[in-house]
Amino acid sequence: MSSILVFVESAEGAVKKTSLEAVCYAKGMGGDVTVIAFGNEVSESELSDLGKYGASKVLHVNDEKYNKGVIQAYASVIADAMEKEGADVLVLANSSLGNPVSARVAVKVDASLVSNVTELPDTSAGFKVKRSIYTGKAFANVDLTKDKKILAIKKNAAEVKEVGGSATVEPFAASAPDGDFSTNITKTEKATGEILLPEAELVVSGGRGLKGPENWGMIEELAKTLGAATGCSKPVSDMDWRPHHEHVGQTGVKVSPQLYIAVGISGAIQHLAGVNSSKNIVVINKDPEAPFFKAADYGIVGDAFEVVPKLTEALKAA
Ligand code: FAD
Repeated sequence: MSSILVFVESAEGAVKKTSLEAVCYAKGMGGDVTVIAFGNEVSESELSDLGKYGASKVLHVNDEKYNKGVIQAYASVIADAMEKEGADVLVLANSSLGNPVSARVAVKVDASLVSNVTELPDTSAGFKVKRSIYTGKAFANVDLTKDKKILAIKKNAAEVKEVGGSATVEPFAASAPDGDFSTNITKTEKATGEILLPEAELVVSGGRGLKGPENWGMIEELAKTLGAATGCSKPVSDMDWRPHHEHVGQTGVKVSPQLYIAVGISGAIQHLAGVNSSKNIVVINKDPEAPFFKAADYGIVGDAFEVVPKLTEALKAA
């Protein structure tokens, strides 16, 4: 393995955890890891800290123009950086930003591209990677045959661990043409003041078992106690008990938290498709036969209206 470039994303001045996973994945591949980061909202010290996770150098496009999701410009600059750095592998997060960027870079540098990667590549004969397919129900082993390779890493596929060291941060002169800025995000706002669901490490989610929107106070209270985001099943958002951006599942948000607590949700296959990358699943349901229990790490058979307040109380007391 020669040189690996990692595209890191940042939000509110901090490198995203999914990007730290991408850096650790790249380090695990065994090559020399260079990072490229965009915008002037992320500090040099934050970028230099990427050395702790295995990066030896950070190329920083320290320019306000690159702060907000300028996908085409990122792709042009990354393609340029791959060429200048002699990188034959690009690693990035399998995210709503990483995916469109990776597709554009693949065209520009004529690379083999695989998304949803779950394991380190097998380079014993060629270059094979495992990817998750059918919303996590199966895996495909993919051969990458072009000289350049792009790997979009599924959330939670790589462990974030410190290996020591610090990275040098160098300015990188971006050369994206003006046309790349034709759709420019000027401002982003959270849909609610709460924790964003797709990024959340902890999620408390409610289903039709909660009977009505008036009962969501206990879900919010539990979520607040844990510092968790709130989610829901599709019928709940269809009935306007909760906003649509909270709907988790195949047709909604896919979450990959450390802990997903499902309250009064049956565990239909379409809901599970959005949560099966969670590290730990806790199910609270009064029906011991509810299918969600088969996907759960821990299950509580009981009435949510009794269990949830007691759980919140116990957590507050802890
Ligand atoms: P229910 O199936 O009604 O389950 C309610 C659960 O609450 C039951 O298990 C019950 O035992 C339990 N319960 C009742 N009272 C209590 C109580 N007091 N205490 C504890 N537990 C209690 N669904 C999604 O969620 N996300 C999707 O993305 C999605 N996409 C879909 C796409 C398609 C094409 C289709 C056809 C369906 C999709 N669905 C999706 C719907 C899905 O099939 C289920 O209908 C839905 O997930 C069920 O929601 P639920 O579990 O909240 O409700």
